[in-house]
Amino acid sequence: MNREKIVIAGAGVAGVNAATKLVDEGYPGELITIIDMGKDPYHREYSEVMEGFLGAGGWSDGKLTYHTSIGGQLSKYCGEEKAMELFDQVIDNFKRFHPKPEEVQCSDPQAEPDFIKPYFGLRLFPVWHVGTDYLHEIGKNWYDFLESKDVNFIWENKVTDINFEENFISYTEINGNGDWTQKYDKLIFGVGKSGIDFGKKLAEQYELPTEPKAVQIGVRFEAPQEHFQKLIDISYDFKLYRKFDDKGVSLRSFCTNNNAAYVAAEHTYGDVSYNGHAKKDEAFRNNMTNFGILMEIKSIDKPFDWSREAVKKLQVDGVGTYFSPSQRVPSKTSEGDYVG
Ligand SMILES: Cc1cc2nc3c(=O)[nH]c(=O)nc-3n(C[C@H](O)[C@H](O)[C@H](O)COP(=O)(O)OP(=O)(O)OC[C@H]3O[C@@H](n4cnc5c(N)ncnc54)[C@H](O)[C@@H]3O)c2cc1C
Repeated sequence: MNREKIVIAGAGVAGVNAATKLVDEGYPGELITIIDMGKDPYHREYSEVMEGFLGAGGWSDGKLTYHTSIGGQLSKYCGEEKAMELFDQVIDNFKRFHPKPEEVQCSDPQAEPDFIKPYFGLRLFPVWHVGTDYLHEIGKNWYDFLESKDVNFIWENKVTDINFEENFISYTEINGNGDWTQKYDKLIFGVGKSGIDFGKKLAEQYELPTEPKAVQIGVRFEAPQEHFQKLIDISYDFKLYRKFDDKGVSLRSFCTNNNAAYVAAEHTYGDVSYNGHAKKDEAFRNNMTNFGILMEIKSIDKPFDWSREAVKKLQVDGVGTYFSPSQRVPSKTSEGDYVG
């Protein structure tokens, strides 16, 4: 049996799935340590959108897109077949720890409807819908399982440095009470979007190769659901797209939330952005639909700096601007938080 000590930086979707895969394959949990700056699922607050057990995925809308063309770049590194196999494992885990797995729905559009064709393309692939209000319970069940396998968790500690030459990881208690260091044999780095500045710092320090990415910048659109119902019946999380090749720009919709849709503020690397959720609980039904409209712009030098600057110009005093003809109390999300 391999006795190497594995440290996982970040208890997000990636870190938690990695630990689960290890223990499922018989790796001793006591040799795995997960360090996260957030809290365990029993103590994580609703306002902590990005940090803690399951990371951003813990408060996401729980829509699992079953296709490699959306989201990250996994298939580029491991090939299409392996990527789909890994998707299956992640989806299985969300069902496995779900309190009501029979309620997980799958939307699987088969053809582009004629009424949409003149305006947009509709991407055709399955999306599993877990439900925002179940993610918390899934998190607790999942956490209990990993604890039962003796996986070690270090909560509310921020990883501040990794020495890849000597295999040391340094972290600081969020409450300022202490700085710590651990030695590892293998490191899994999964600090996600909230750790992007830290990742960038390490990439610069160790001169890791980088590759240019397109700018992605978007707005969230909300309207009464009746206007979208025909489309929702075909594809619950409809992914519309349109390309303007001559301008190097493409547009797509993403993360559609229906029935009990709301928006929530999300704090990442000092910026505020807004994301959508949908509760499955009928008590929250508001007959609204919201979705993101994302613009991808190619060939921009330093895309990350560019989009950060653009966001600063478009927001007022660091918070998002907002327009609603009538539906919302101005400047408030459906949960009552100010958005701008
Ligand atoms: C509101 C919202 C809705 C979303 N909806 C969906 C959806 O419906 N479907 C979907 O597929 N995706 C969705 N996403 C995206 C999805 O959540 C992410 O793609 C996914 O969580 C990424 O997983 P990850 O493990 O890479 O990072 P994360 O889940 O972000 O986890 C990173 C973890 O690392 C920790 N961390 C960061 N820096 C440090 C540090 N220095 N030290 C210690 N810990 C650190 C954080 O606390 C966090 O827990 C949504 C995201 C948000 C914010």
